[in-house]
Amino acid sequence: MKYQKAKYDYIESIKVWYVEPFGLIDQPAAFVYYPGENCGVQVMIGDSLESFCDILREAAAELGCELKETWGVKGIASTDPYWDGKPTFRCGRCSIEHDVHENVAQVLYQRLGGSR
Ligand SMILES: [Zn+2]
Repeated sequence: MKYQKAKYDYIESIKVWYVEPFGLIDQPAAFVYYPGENCGVQVMIGDSLESFCDILREAAAELGCELKETWGVKGIASTDPYWDGKPTFRCGRCSIEHDVHENVAQVLYQRLGGSR
């Protein structure tokens, strides 16, 4: 279980996306977004989505902050500072339109240690 408590004295809210395996995501994953100065996304993998829920709700309660939960990838592109706000983008490789949220989730999963 990859989960480290954020090093904050105070945060208002944490966002999380609970994602079932699809595409390049081969295990249940929780994408946890910490806002603020050291903002960033952390990926939890390898267990059930329900177990991520328990851990994160407990952590949020301990931190005294709100946990904003989303089931599925919708909205996850908002964690990308370079996102242009469009729901799809034209892929450079296969030149068809892809869902931007699905793409961001898969990229984060691969980049942040989700792959085997
Ligand atoms: Zn493509």
